[in-house]
Amino acid sequence: MTSFLSWLMSPQDYMPHGMCFLWQPELIALHVASDSAIALAYYSIPIALIYFVNKRTDLAFPTIFVLTGLFILACGTTHIMGVWTLWNPDYRLDGGIKAVTAVLSIGTAIAIWKVMPLALALPSTAQLQQANKALGEEIGHRQRAEAALREANAELERCVAERTANLQEEVLRRRGTEATLRASEARWRSMFEASAVGIAVMDQDNHFAAANEAFQRMIGYTGEELQSLGPLDITHEDDRETAQEMLEHVQSGKPEDYHSEKRYRCRDGRVIWVRVSTARALDPDTPLPGTPAIIEDITERKRAEGDLHNAREALSRATRLAMMGELAASIAHEINQPLGAIIMNGNACRRFLAVTPPDLDEVRDGLDAVVSDGNRASEVLSRIRAMLKNAAPERGEVDVNKSITEVLALTRQELQQHRVSVQVDLRPDLPRIVADRVQLQQVVLNLVMNGIDAMRAIADRARILTIRSQLDDQRNIVVNVADSGVGLDAADRERIFETFFTTKAAGMGMGLAISKSIIEAHHGRLWAAPGSPIGAMFAFALPSASGVSL
Ligand code: ADP
Repeated sequence: MTSFLSWLMSPQDYMPHGMCFLWQPELIALHVASDSAIALAYYSIPIALIYFVNKRTDLAFPTIFVLTGLFILACGTTHIMGVWTLWNPDYRLDGGIKAVTAVLSIGTAIAIWKVMPLALALPSTAQLQQANKALGEEIGHRQRAEAALREANAELERCVAERTANLQEEVLRRRGTEATLRASEARWRSMFEASAVGIAVMDQDNHFAAANEAFQRMIGYTGEELQSLGPLDITHEDDRETAQEMLEHVQSGKPEDYHSEKRYRCRDGRVIWVRVSTARALDPDTPLPGTPAIIEDITERKRAEGDLHNAREALSRATRLAMMGELAASIAHEINQPLGAIIMNGNACRRFLAVTPPDLDEVRDGLDAVVSDGNRASEVLSRIRAMLKNAAPERGEVDVNKSITEVLALTRQELQQHRVSVQVDLRPDLPRIVADRVQLQQVVLNLVMNGIDAMRAIADRARILTIRSQLDDQRNIVVNVADSGVGLDAADRERIFETFFTTKAAGMGMGLAISKSIIEAHHGRLWAAPGSPIGAMFAFALPSASGVSL
């Protein structure tokens, strides 16, 4: 090692470099100053580079910087050697340092070219700024998008919250509605179940889809049995037509309610009267679509009505009998007259036969008179029998004018006896009506007898009874019985149709009440009015239209 160093430093072999400058102080000073300045500058660069490398840990290619630093350090050293060799001819050391510098510069050059493509690929500051700007824009863009997203998210959350609140409200409302519906259904169901009248719902096939307890009890079938039965199946044979009509009415969808009275045959064969009321068919969307019907058992009412009707008939017969009783003397006289004539004509015939030769023409005339009087007496008797017979009311075609004439024939004697003159004005072409002839005659008889009674006390004027029949605009047959009697005062007129109202000492007060009920049972009307110019007028109107069932 020592020999290598002494070899490097062999000044004895060479002359100092200053000699080449002839030791001219200015030239030497120039070289010394220049080389020293260069060396100083060169030495400062590696320090700066090392400092820079140390500080910038993210630096790309730090090796290049280190190599460059070493290379420049070596270059600086060559300039130091330039100063050194001015006085010391250590040219081997100088050459060695240059060789090191050469190796370092070549290595650095190679390294620089090697990393050149990579270094070129590194973005420039402008590019970095551009990229930075783009990135900034991108970030801004993203931030805006994020803000919009956040806003959309907030809006969505608000919507969700609002919808949730609405849904909760809707759920609460529905729960409320359901509760109301349940309460309503329970109320209706309890009414349906607990109702004292029968309630049933008929389905589209006219079967009892539902029937309450009351209806099941009424008819004797269970709800299940009724489901395979329809109204026609339980309706009495004679009333099926009414039931059919009702079904057709309901099926036709007419809006009105429909009521009918008919008979049902119960499960045990009993027959009951019912009043059935149906309404329009229920909405098909309701839980139990169909036609609701309310069924009332009116058997008792019908029985009471029947009893009332029978009582009225009995009363009517009784008053008729009473009236006929009143007429008994007149009727006896009425029959006595033709009987007297018969006896008289019989005796005359005997006399005509006793002469010789017998006067047969006279006998024939006498016998004709006997037959005619016999017929008259027989007619009176048959009329009386008709009025007195105890038969049930019977309806048929009635000629109102003929009925009036027959009553007048019955009362002729009574009228004569009370010096009542009768004026009859009967419209000839009156249509026949369907009615109970005897009952109709009872009404006319009652009005005639009342007229006679009202004129009993009249002494200062003519006693006139006017009977008129006519046809009004609605084709009602109107019969008027007017008298010139005492008349009716306003207060009495209100009450004369009440039962037991009478102003007569021996009156029953039943005549007008029964007459009114008879006329009303014939769908007619009976009324009273002041007579013109004096007395009272009673009238009744009966419908004559064909098809009136009485
Ligand atoms: P009654 O003849 O037994 O009294 P009615 O019912 O026939 O029963 O008559 C009731 C009452 O109406 C009579 O008592 C009488 O006061 C009154 N009345 C009926 N017809 C006439 C008439 N033509 N004129 C005046 N009053 C009459």
